[in-house]
Amino acid sequence: MPQPTLIGLPYDASSSYRRGAALAPPAIREALNCPSTNSWSESLREIRLGDALRDVGDLDLPPTGEARARIEDGIRRLLEAGGVPLALGGDHSVTYPILKALGPHHPGLTILHIDAHPDLYQDFEGDPFSHACPFARILEDGLAQRLVQVGIRGMNGHQKAQAERFGVEVIDMRAWAEGIRPVLQGPLYVSIDVDGVDPAFAPGVSHREPGGLSSREVITLLQRLPGPLVGADVVEFNPGQDPIGLTAPLCARLVKELASRMLETTERP
Ligand code: MN
Ligand code: MN
Repeated sequence: MPQPTLIGLPYDASSSYRRGAALAPPAIREALNCPSTNSWSESLREIRLGDALRDVGDLDLPPTGEARARIEDGIRRLLEAGGVPLALGGDHSVTYPILKALGPHHPGLTILHIDAHPDLYQDFEGDPFSHACPFARILEDGLAQRLVQVGIRGMNGHQKAQAERFGVEVIDMRAWAEGIRPVLQGPLYVSIDVDGVDPAFAPGVSHREPGGLSSREVITLLQRLPGPLVGADVVEFNPGQDPIGLTAPLCARLVKELASRMLETTERP
């Protein structure tokens, strides 16, 4: 049976504003193991690290473009070992090399992308691999059939044009507030930029954008995902911006709910 597998990607050299997301993987593991909570998902699956949730540790990533090849290779090895990747960023640039390894395994893949920002820049200040660009690269390479974005409140003219060019389905926060929800079909990959959640719930990010999703809204969205859920990432948590430790337990909760949903949607009845 496919096994949800945690893999840490401590890389933040493609951040456009503030570094620090490279420190997230150990902080999320610590929150997963913290005795302030238990290891169960809300649907009552025990998601213990090293058990229901395998853990292959962190990749060794230099702060250069070489990191992308190492991520692609690391995800490929994880897939060959029968794992379902649950990747911990790092900045959002890691999603492109993840999909380079994963996308060809899943024809017809839909990506659900939760983020304040569309991350669709053709290049950002000359860098086509910036954390502001991964979904432009993924769609150019045909690594997913459908991209559905939720939580968006940082759109601009250029990215709006890119969304139209690539046929991206954008459910921005105004549409969300009107009650619009994504209609999804598997196979599904979920990419969660923690800044998609409102900074009142998740202050530990590099780009705080008010007016976002609540923790509850994101958790409920994950619990209702169709299957199979074939991979996921949780990116852009910046522990240095999380002074009272609100964001690490949220990331741990998202990991538990994602792993639980992976199990529920890939198990044979
Ligand atoms: Mn973002
Ligand atoms: Mn992002």
